[in-house]
Amino acid sequence: MIDYISALPNASSLPPFPRGLCVLGATGSIGQSALAVVSAHPERFTVTALAAGRNVTRLAEQAATFKPPYLAVLTQACRDELKMLLAPGYRPEILCGPDAYAALASLPEASVVLSAIVGAAGLSPTLAAAKSGKIIALANKESLVLGGHLIRRACRESGATVLPVDSEHNALFQSLAGHSGDGVDHLILTASGGPFRDWPAKDLARATPAQALKHPNWSMGAKISIDSATLMNKGLEIIEACQLYGLPQERVKVLVHPQSVVHSLAAYRDGSLLAQMGPPDMRLAIAYCLCYPDRLPLALTPLDLAQLGPVTFSLPRTEDFPCLDLARKAQAASPAHCVALNAANEVAVEWFLKERIGFLDIARAVSFALDRASGLDDPDFMTIMEVDAATRDAVTEFFRKTT
Ligand code: NAD
Ligand code: MG
Repeated sequence: MIDYISALPNASSLPPFPRGLCVLGATGSIGQSALAVVSAHPERFTVTALAAGRNVTRLAEQAATFKPPYLAVLTQACRDELKMLLAPGYRPEILCGPDAYAALASLPEASVVLSAIVGAAGLSPTLAAAKSGKIIALANKESLVLGGHLIRRACRESGATVLPVDSEHNALFQSLAGHSGDGVDHLILTASGGPFRDWPAKDLARATPAQALKHPNWSMGAKISIDSATLMNKGLEIIEACQLYGLPQERVKVLVHPQSVVHSLAAYRDGSLLAQMGPPDMRLAIAYCLCYPDRLPLALTPLDLAQLGPVTFSLPRTEDFPCLDLARKAQAASPAHCVALNAANEVAVEWFLKERIGFLDIARAVSFALDRASGLDDPDFMTIMEVDAATRDAVTEFFRKTT
């Protein structure tokens, strides 16, 4: 039985075009791809709000192009810097600080919110969008890992809709559309395997950030690129799929598929496998969510099946890439364990990117955090943030003592 996180809007409740759009994480990889979709189809959108962390220069360029009435940045200093970069005649409202993102996600002028901030910082604005009844184009998988149960509840109460931007979940969403969830046996997430897919286990300890950042098929932000190299990305995606579809992790399987053209599959109990295929370009999933249920013509290089060559699937190397099973362990244990898993991973990825720890220390830190986590079934927002902060402190201390 599939129990999707939110109701889907019917034709009469869908917002008309042009849709008011709030982009959280506008200056990132997903945010920029989304704005490329907007530029290609300006008749579909009114850009209401653009939000970034600290990349003021890029945000100023985007603001000059789209002229949204609202902007947000992380600090007062960023706000001052941004003001200086804006054209004299253009005076948007500029919010700042962590609460600014939730405020923009709740604006009545925005019917669609693209949640594309990276990390746990995405939970609060995603939850605000869910409480405000928005269509949420959800890229920030961490918010489902931390608070999927809260987002589910908020969507049920407000009528908000979650549409998954993450390519695997977008593929599942498309492969499940129009079918009864009762017929689904399990879901299969595909994984490229990351840049170290074929590396011998003995070499992994020496893997550097520069090597880990070179993803074979996708161009993405730094954090998700490292997560792809450790397979934590697929681990987070298992939890994301469980939260989206109300399934236990045993019913979400993973196959390594290096060509990244089959983006995921739904396995039905009669033996049918329904998959979504397409070029590995996030604009496809983003445009599908922003204009749901319309499909836009996108100027992507189409998949040429005749030229594709072999398309392969294999089981992941879970012993060499332990993060995948650590995520399964967290999902099976409790929502608080998922919070601890994510927090430990975020700290570890940061330390790895600064070359302060080795590649294998990432999984070591996550394992440490799971061992010290205590089970909580229905943590509220404040409790989630407390577990998140306490885990970050503990993992930082762990690294200080052991590296
Ligand atoms: P990125 O690092 O390229 O961009 C992150 C964005 O968030 C930037 O705009 C940055 O300024 C902003 N930001 C960072 N920290 C912030 C904070 N504390 N508060 C507010 N804003 C902050 O990341 P990305 O690759 O675009 O990924 C964004 C999200 O989408 C992640 O959750 C990722 O897992 C998910 N995702 C990305 C891809 C992809 O192809 N890049 C695919 C699937 C899912
Ligand atoms: Mg993905």
